[in-house]
Amino acid sequence: IIIKIGTSTLTYASGCINIRRIENLCKVISDLKNAGNEVIMVSSGAIAMGHGKLNIKEPPQNVAEKQAFAAVGQCELMYAYDKIFSAYNITVAQILLTADDLRNSERHEKFDNTMAQLLKWNVLPVINENDTVSTTEIKIGDNDTLAAIVAESVGADLLVLMSDIDGLFDSDPHQNPNAKFIERIDEWSDELM
Ligand code: GLU
Repeated sequence: IIIKIGTSTLTYASGCINIRRIENLCKVISDLKNAGNEVIMVSSGAIAMGHGKLNIKEPPQNVAEKQAFAAVGQCELMYAYDKIFSAYNITVAQILLTADDLRNSERHEKFDNTMAQLLKWNVLPVINENDTVSTTEIKIGDNDTLAAIVAESVGADLLVLMSDIDGLFDSDPHQNPNAKFIERIDEWSDELM
């Protein structure tokens, strides 16, 4: 099972961590693992948490600031996961990827091997994009895309995208009150978007 958790799920608009929500999520994920499921997390939140931790009021002014926020926030993110999951006797592992890592067959193979080993040891991998070195040209995009790539790569049975949007819409429901919900897709067609 791949579970992708978005920034809006993990943090408040201030960038501070939503403690109750993250603790509940970690509890449920621990239970899923205890029930015998292999779970992989794809977690966003590094940029927002770095922003919150540094207590800077203004939004990032440029890419270097964003990437520096991610460097601070990624530590904070993993610290939170490590602390909470430890209480349930679950060991976490951090994996940071760029699009280049997945395009390069040798590096992709190393990723697959490491994932297989971690799952064999019953470790919970927590994956994010390596934001501090990603550039526009090599950006995977958003973590929904990263989670889908990971799901395919490890042959997952289920991919769950947790976000503040209740499914797939033909436009952003936060911006467009008439956005249409698409309940099911059996085959992709360009007319959908
Ligand atoms: N990697 C980004 C972060 O951790 C989030 C990207 C996304 O949510 O799509 O802040």
